[in-house]
Amino acid sequence: MIRSGILGALSKDKLSVFLFHKVPRCADPLIPGDITLTGFERMLDEVVSQFRVLPLEDAVTRLHSGRLPRRAACITFDDGYADWVQGAAPALRKRNLHATFFITTGQFAGLPLWHERIQAAVRALPGPQLDIGMPSLGHPSVATLGDRQALVVKLEREFKYLTLSAREQALVRLEAAAGVRPEALPRMSEAQLRDLHSQGFSVGGHTINHPILDYCNEQELVQEVAGVREQLQGIVQGPIAGFAYPNGRPYADFSRHHVEAVRRAGYAYAVTTHWGVANPVTSPFQIPRFTPWAQREWHALFQAGRNLLVHPVHVPETAG
Ligand SMILES: [Zn+2]
Repeated sequence: MIRSGILGALSKDKLSVFLFHKVPRCADPLIPGDITLTGFERMLDEVVSQFRVLPLEDAVTRLHSGRLPRRAACITFDDGYADWVQGAAPALRKRNLHATFFITTGQFAGLPLWHERIQAAVRALPGPQLDIGMPSLGHPSVATLGDRQALVVKLEREFKYLTLSAREQALVRLEAAAGVRPEALPRMSEAQLRDLHSQGFSVGGHTINHPILDYCNEQELVQEVAGVREQLQGIVQGPIAGFAYPNGRPYADFSRHHVEAVRRAGYAYAVTTHWGVANPVTSPFQIPRFTPWAQREWHALFQAGRNLLVHPVHVPETAG
């Protein structure tokens, strides 16, 4: 009761949006930071349960018309993972919680998400060192699990800020060194996405190839923002209202120009990854999101409460 009271007092006219990604059933030793299904269910029961969960599109409309209830929150997921269908979705349904899944559609054409390809390659690399002829990488060791964990982090950081064609070339070299065939790796299917949608969950766009929008040329930008909406509308046979910026940090990953592209593509709202909460003057095209990460209940709840006080950063927008 005390918790609800404090959250209620802090949350007037504020919308909390929780962000999750992959939710594997078992912990992956290579990616120790991923929340497992058990951790996710605990987060729903101990933190999210203190909020009133609404569908995101509904919450954004209510926020801007002054009808948002206190302790309002939404649940979102980014990227698209096969494990959602067997793990996160049943966990949400069991608790009668709505969620929006922002999907990167390139994986439906045959190749998994770029960071999934890095992880699969690093898992398979023969030792004792990696050498793919990229001077910025040097010759990192892959002798121990710790080396491989560090290499995943390093490669994701290096490959994230490449153009789409340069990233693909780097991935192909890495996969050749590891002997991995990316088309054989697990990925989400269109049928799984339709399954989620048919269960009542919302679907949003998260580009086709997950580029940093600031590293796209104009043609790529239209394809990644408007093209993904068309693809998803074809798959779920319904309107797609929301978009999630890849990587999602205002200024670092997208600018006013990209917000305009999202608006022009016909979306009604968009979400970032900047912490904080939306209030009635927050642009519907830059709704902030937050992931509580603490393991202990009181600490994760404290993080969610503290997030209510964070004022998010926005890029300036052209009016209208
Ligand atoms: Zn993403």
